[in-house]
Amino acid sequence: MSTAVVIKTLDSLPVTHLKGVGPAMAEKLAKLSINTVQDVLFHLPLRYQDRTRITAIGALQAGYDAVIDAEVKLADIVFGKRRSLACRIQDDTGTVTLRFYHFSAAQKNNLTPGTKIRCYGEVRRGSSGFELYHPEYKILNSDEPLPTNQALTPVYPSSDGLSQLSWRKLSDQALSLLQQYQPRELLPQGFSRQVNLQHALAYLHRPPSNADQAALHEGNHPFQQRLAFEELVAHNLGLLNLRQQTQQLGAPLLAPAPALQDRFLGQLPFDLTQAQRRVAREIAQDLALTKPMLRLVQGDVGSGKTVVAALAALQTIASGYQAAMMAPTEILAEQHLSNFSDWFKPLGINIAWLSGKLKGKARQAQLETIRNGHAKLIVGTHALFQENVVFQQLGLAIIDEQHRFGVHQRLALKEKASHSAGHPHQLIMTATPIPRTLAMSAYADLDTSVIDELPPGRIPVNTVVMDNNRRDEIIARVHSACLEGKQVYWVCTLIEDSETLEAQAAEDTCDLLQSCLHNVRVGLVHGRMKPAEKAGVMRAYKTHELDLLVATTVIEVGVDVPNASLMIIENAERLGLAQLHQLRGRVGRGSTASHCLLMYQSPLSKAGKERLQTMRDSSDGFVIAEKDLKLRGPGELLGTRQTGLLQMRIADLERDGHMLDDVKHCAEQLLQQSSPQIKPLIDRWLAHGEQYAQV
Ligand code: ADP
Ligand code: MG
Repeated sequence: MSTAVVIKTLDSLPVTHLKGVGPAMAEKLAKLSINTVQDVLFHLPLRYQDRTRITAIGALQAGYDAVIDAEVKLADIVFGKRRSLACRIQDDTGTVTLRFYHFSAAQKNNLTPGTKIRCYGEVRRGSSGFELYHPEYKILNSDEPLPTNQALTPVYPSSDGLSQLSWRKLSDQALSLLQQYQPRELLPQGFSRQVNLQHALAYLHRPPSNADQAALHEGNHPFQQRLAFEELVAHNLGLLNLRQQTQQLGAPLLAPAPALQDRFLGQLPFDLTQAQRRVAREIAQDLALTKPMLRLVQGDVGSGKTVVAALAALQTIASGYQAAMMAPTEILAEQHLSNFSDWFKPLGINIAWLSGKLKGKARQAQLETIRNGHAKLIVGTHALFQENVVFQQLGLAIIDEQHRFGVHQRLALKEKASHSAGHPHQLIMTATPIPRTLAMSAYADLDTSVIDELPPGRIPVNTVVMDNNRRDEIIARVHSACLEGKQVYWVCTLIEDSETLEAQAAEDTCDLLQSCLHNVRVGLVHGRMKPAEKAGVMRAYKTHELDLLVATTVIEVGVDVPNASLMIIENAERLGLAQLHQLRGRVGRGSTASHCLLMYQSPLSKAGKERLQTMRDSSDGFVIAEKDLKLRGPGELLGTRQTGLLQMRIADLERDGHMLDDVKHCAEQLLQQSSPQIKPLIDRWLAHGEQYAQV
């Protein structure tokens, strides 16, 4: 009789297999998508600390971490700006201060003079010379020297409730299981870079003391690169799979509608640019196919994406389907509503409006026209796809300003909007130019079109950088611009992410400007105002009943008032490049020369200075986006902190961009072979992988 031997693999060993992981801990881990022992091993350290050698106090350097063995000379509570416990320690080479802002009486009592301690922390310059703030420390009880660590100490990406110590215990156990259970090699031959996965994992969780720390720090170590490659392949596969799934759903055939489109174009006071025509054609061809269009349109601020979207909507409506246009902010959605009403009402097309703030009967009425198909174009905010909205038959979803619309939202839309005729076509528009590396990875599931031409006659915005202390001069300039009949934006910004504080700052500035600018009509708009109030102010500004608009960054995207030709941005040094570029794009839309004054508070940080310089020297959205990617990394650039579009564990698009061609080949090869490795790869690297991996 033979007993069946079940060979366990790391991805089938639940975390509860590890000591100390009970139901409560397992639940915490599950929230981080860690369910198996394999998941623990692929939860990789963010960085490392070198606690393998002891540094003499005399050799400390600011900005570096150090392990120090020393004797307490004095521990005292200091009443400075903030009460703190300062502990002076000494070795043969000098003295240094440990400073604690949070401390207990017991802690102070334990640090009696003469006590020997070992501490670890970052050395900084403080009021008493070098200091370590809140160092970790251990009291040494005997004269026996404590052994130093043999391996570098990993620092794991942590979340509430799980300490570094817990992570180290978990990974210790997982690593010991690595002897018994080999992690599966999932990459095709030729792509695994001759690195053994088991070695790579063991090494990266506990690098030996002689490891190349500079390479590890940069993420350039061959083991890190091996895993980064695999992660990028998994992400790529996830998105391509998503595309395939969506395309299998089918979509309504929307026939070209030249008659209706010509009537629309005939109403416009301008001709389309070559680029607009080309992109409109690409979209028209996609819509006439029975698989869903998945197209990203990139076009710099002011390149005229809205008209192109309108043409796509008309093609949809002419075939008897509904089109929906979703914008990321209320103000932008309202502006689209007003534009589309002007354009479409003369063509006899009914429009519905939906935002999160629309309530009660008014909301019910709109929902009803969407359901019964009376409304052919539906304009709104996220409410369009998040809430209980039933479309009669949605043929096209237009998503404006894609960088706020991540993969998760794309998934949600896929679930929501499918109907008997299939899945709606999707058109995603963004003014954030997307560097090639990002386009290849974050948007691998989309086709792209670029409107690479601005309407004729636009004059680049002249950008000037000015110190805050020249405010009077700036106000005088605003005054004369307004008296000359120009319109001006004054943008108030705050570093805190608080709509309330920001609104307050804008109100104060508005009061101040009103009091010192005679004969100037000043308006105010911020995120705390009611939608109707906001819309009223925007309308008044657009029709030039207001000369000066004081605003928060709510006007960042899409706002279009061609007569505005001067913009002041306060605290510009605090904003990211993408945001500055967006804001500046609100001027320079007419035929007069426009100016943008970037005010800053000195002293400027190095990054702040670099950003302002970039803004002054370039008006090309692609140049600015590349620079932004360098300065901030892809997560921030795309606003993915919130959307989870691109949470990579070890890969870094900026650093690893050179791999992307290989990544693509590898993913394509796996897909062509319908490889059984696809699913395990996606499961290994993507949180909620099942959504991407379904077939
Ligand atoms: P964005 O691409 O930033 O969304 P918009 O669609 O808001 O740009 O267009 C910016 C402005 O340019 C609008 O006032 C629009 O009416 C105008 N516009 C669009 N296309 C053209 C064109 N071909 N010629 C002149 N003006 C245009
Ligand atoms: Mg726009």
